[in-house]
Amino acid sequence: REDDPASEESPRKKRRTGDVAVVVEHYNARPDVGVAQRQESPIIGLKNFNNWVKSVLITRFAHPALAASPSRDGPRGRMRGRVLDMGCGKGGDLTKWAKANVAEYVGLDIAAVSIEQAQKRHATSRGSRFVAEFYALDCYSHVLSEVLPPWLLQTPFDVVSMQFCMHYAFESETKARIMLQNVATWLRPGGVFVGTIPNAKQLMEQLDALPPDTQDLSWGNKVYRIRFEDRRNRPIFGHRYWFYLKDAVDDVPEYVVHWENFVQLAAEYGLHPNYKKEFHDIFDEHHEHEEFGELLQRMRVVDAVGESQMDEDQVGSCQCPYPPPPP
Ligand code: SAM
Repeated sequence: REDDPASEESPRKKRRTGDVAVVVEHYNARPDVGVAQRQESPIIGLKNFNNWVKSVLITRFAHPALAASPSRDGPRGRMRGRVLDMGCGKGGDLTKWAKANVAEYVGLDIAAVSIEQAQKRHATSRGSRFVAEFYALDCYSHVLSEVLPPWLLQTPFDVVSMQFCMHYAFESETKARIMLQNVATWLRPGGVFVGTIPNAKQLMEQLDALPPDTQDLSWGNKVYRIRFEDRRNRPIFGHRYWFYLKDAVDDVPEYVVHWENFVQLAAEYGLHPNYKKEFHDIFDEHHEHEEFGELLQRMRVVDAVGESQMDEDQVGSCQCPYPPPPP
């Protein structure tokens, strides 16, 4: 449910400036295309691969956390647990949560247009029988208890999911701390925080690999481009680069999540890592697994004979050698 933008209290009433304004404007402007048109995307292989990785993570780590919650009868059988999806975007993971038989879902995103689209997707999808609430708000500047209705936070969440969005919180220490406070406060003890972020180690290696005398601190291919502004200054917060991904992200500021820094900070909030892998490791670990191997085909990451649907540029953009592109 969206907040009332006319209200003086509304987080949307605040005029945004700086990088966050660029991020919001960008995501609000991205059209929501239907299922059929989505398959026409020039990077559909990559999008499907990213979705497969998220499905594997959700199935392996979120399902058990939801299963530990008391169940209740729902239209699709037994439904269990509550999920908080921070940075839910247009609701691209709603089907994954429907498959998890989640009972309740709360989707938050700073982009109000995306929230409207997510809400519509939930209302019109036959699979989405779970209760869902949507709010447009900045999860890295607002403590949730100050902006969400108290009844929504009465029961803690079994899972907090942050997919391809946590790196925006690393613009500053304050934002990263608010983000972690929001995760930790509303996650039940033993609950699971599951997310996906760009790989800082690879970003730094690629930055180091640039010729020493070049002024152009960018690299990429036909599908993606990454541009840093400084080679030496590598702050643990606010380490900015600009990211372009064809048919997805139009030169938007992002921030490196230096992993050790993140782990140390998260520990202060009682959050401890139990699984961290690069996407190609996740592919290696799961592509021969009965369920996830079959899912690779159903999600069209590979075709019927197991050949990747990503071309070389798409594989290069996710910095993974797998799944290998067709020869
Ligand atoms: N999680 C979705 C998915 O995997 O399909 C969307 C990912 S999209 C790459 C990144 C999302 O992060 C955008 O929808 C953007 O609006 C959201 N975002 C960025 N900064 C945010 C903030 N401060 N609070 C909430 N959402 C934010």
